[in-house]
Amino acid sequence: MNAEEVKNAIRNVPDFPIPGIQFKDITTALAKPECLMWMRDEIVRRYKDAGITKVVGIESRGFILAPAVAIEIGAGFVPIRKHNKLPAETVSVTYAKEYGDDTIQIHKDALSKNDIVLIHDDILATGGSMEAAINLVKKLSVKKIYVNCIIELEGLHGREYLDGKADNVDCLFGIEVNE
Ligand code: AMP
Repeated sequence: MNAEEVKNAIRNVPDFPIPGIQFKDITTALAKPECLMWMRDEIVRRYKDAGITKVVGIESRGFILAPAVAIEIGAGFVPIRKHNKLPAETVSVTYAKEYGDDTIQIHKDALSKNDIVLIHDDILATGGSMEAAINLVKKLSVKKIYVNCIIELEGLHGREYLDGKADNVDCLFGIEVNE
């Protein structure tokens, strides 16, 4: 298995959820055991020696691989959720999306100053959601923040947009946004 084979297992769904969007559907790759294992193992390979103490997954597709990676590298798992889903005391970040604002939250006691954090999501597009997640994690004053996504949508310059906002940003492979 290699990046190209996993990339080929990702389905493009035109005009979902709205006309003009080429939706990258990772469920077809997740359903193949060899692709699922490759994605987990590739993230583990990149981060196993980085001293990560918490893998933070972004709701909802960031929840698929983040706990699997956390178990392998001996870290804990922490969810970032949409507003009013977490039961205890939270901190929040509100950010502008294409159609109105969105708020994300994390439990206030989920991270602390000694944590080295890996934030994971499935896709990096413009980088707006990841920036909000980084700002949320920064509110809890952690030691370091790494960012990983499975796919980088090429041509949207998400990685450049995040430049300097985290200690490192990486993606397993790129896909053309209109491919
Ligand atoms: P952005 O904030 O623009 O970087 O968008 C990233 C978030 O939107 C991620 O949670 C992705 O899962 C989702 N997303 C953005 N564009 C796509 C796409 N073309 N196909 C599937 N998901 C997408």
